[in-house]
Amino acid sequence: MKLNKLLSKSSDTYLYNFDLVIDKQILDNFSNAKYIFMQGSMVRAKVFATKLAAQILNIDPEYFEPLNLLPCKDFCAYKIGNVLSVSHGMGNSSMLILLHTLTKLLHYAGNTDLEYIRLGTSGGIGINPGTVVLTNTAYMPNLVPGYMVSVLDQDIIYPTEMNKDLNNLIIKAQPDDLDFKIALGNSIAADDFYLGQARLDGAIKPHYDESRANEYFTQVQKFNILNFEMESTSLASFCYRAEIPATMIAVTLVNRLLSDQITATPEMLSLYSDRPQHIALNYLKYLDIKG
Ligand code: URA
Repeated sequence: MKLNKLLSKSSDTYLYNFDLVIDKQILDNFSNAKYIFMQGSMVRAKVFATKLAAQILNIDPEYFEPLNLLPCKDFCAYKIGNVLSVSHGMGNSSMLILLHTLTKLLHYAGNTDLEYIRLGTSGGIGINPGTVVLTNTAYMPNLVPGYMVSVLDQDIIYPTEMNKDLNNLIIKAQPDDLDFKIALGNSIAADDFYLGQARLDGAIKPHYDESRANEYFTQVQKFNILNFEMESTSLASFCYRAEIPATMIAVTLVNRLLSDQITATPEMLSLYSDRPQHIALNYLKYLDIKG
């Protein structure tokens, strides 16, 4: 890991975004962490923690309720052995707040070897709904691979490559009889679900029409971009700079070449949303994580 040399546990005693006063108990709670799984929703983070306890530590879910280690309203964190299941909220801004705050906390708690994996949902581009995409490189909607941040009076573009070895290992860890497809490709992180993702059904009228959106999709496919979502560029660029291996495992809910609207039934959506967690659990079992 390569973090800010100015970080100081003795002066950084209150993490505002977690509403957390750092004391010995808190540092103990977050020590011995390695595998950090991030999901948008707090509910999904808790469900994953319950599955981790059952499938990795053999704890009967009937007698176990995961404990949220964060007192704030915006994020949650559950620790099962050396695996953390956290929520990151929606969009790059929320993801960046989580990444900075959590990484400082994990660093102060003495962790030096971390992996960050986002488990998410996305809109597929030219692939069947239910396919799970592992991201190689995250793109901005303007088809530039990278993440542009405006800092002081400058716009800076940082690299957004995910960790290749981690992707390969996750794929190797999957059994041959998975009943859904996994694809390795690139992703676009948009700042918006609607116009940012070339939809025509947002509340305000786009400046483009359907044929222009289709031209864009043709361009997008030339870059082997398989899905749209909203957090991969911040995750990839942060982890690239912090030298933390990272990737994203995101299931697709719709094929955007066919529809703007997500029309899968609630049952199908719930089935699809379980898939990234399923892949993550296969990965941890392959590594023989005992916590
Ligand atoms: N999440 C997104 O960002 N876009 C979609 O189309 C579906 C889920």
